[in-house]
Amino acid sequence: MPARPELTHPGDDAITAAMNRSLTALSAVVQALGDGVHTLNLVGLRTDHAFVTGRSDLSISTNPPLRLSALDEDEFYALRALLAFALEGSTMRSAVLVATTAAEPSPRACGWSIRDGWLHPMPDTKPGVTPDGWCTNTQPVSGTTRQVNGAALGGKFFSMHGRRYADCPCGSSSSLTERGNLRRHKPPRQ
Ligand SMILES: [Zn+2]
Repeated sequence: MPARPELTHPGDDAITAAMNRSLTALSAVVQALGDGVHTLNLVGLRTDHAFVTGRSDLSISTNPPLRLSALDEDEFYALRALLAFALEGSTMRSAVLVATTAAEPSPRACGWSIRDGWLHPMPDTKPGVTPDGWCTNTQPVSGTTRQVNGAALGGKFFSMHGRRYADCPCGSSSSLTERGNLRRHKPPRQ
């Protein structure tokens, strides 16, 4: 009787896990980008020194229900597959993901390096500043949201009770709107 054929070859489990992880990573990206039309670009350097690139135009609406639509589904799936490989890591030496957004009052960019199985915001992608000095970013740095406890602070801080605050990549921090966007603020003076 012939041996039972192998149904999986080594690495399939890792790829499946990475494909699932790429969905989680993409939803983090979607939350970081917020409403609008965004262009995602992924550039990776494979272990065989070949460059691979993926690009997808996305439209995001966070007005519930959250909706993500890709201009071209094939491009989107190709980008997601590349992201999965970059997250899995064994065939990719290094990879970056950059999102550019056509937004008022000025276009913005958001970048991540992909390493250790996750997306890490690039510290050098500082948001822009309007001519009169306001920061153009409204997306908080993920994981920095905190709630001010007025009882603990007392005094003049009492009016801030219950407000949520978060950091901005510009180095400033600001209170959040109901929808979780940073309120208008100015970046710290250099
Ligand atoms: Zn800022």
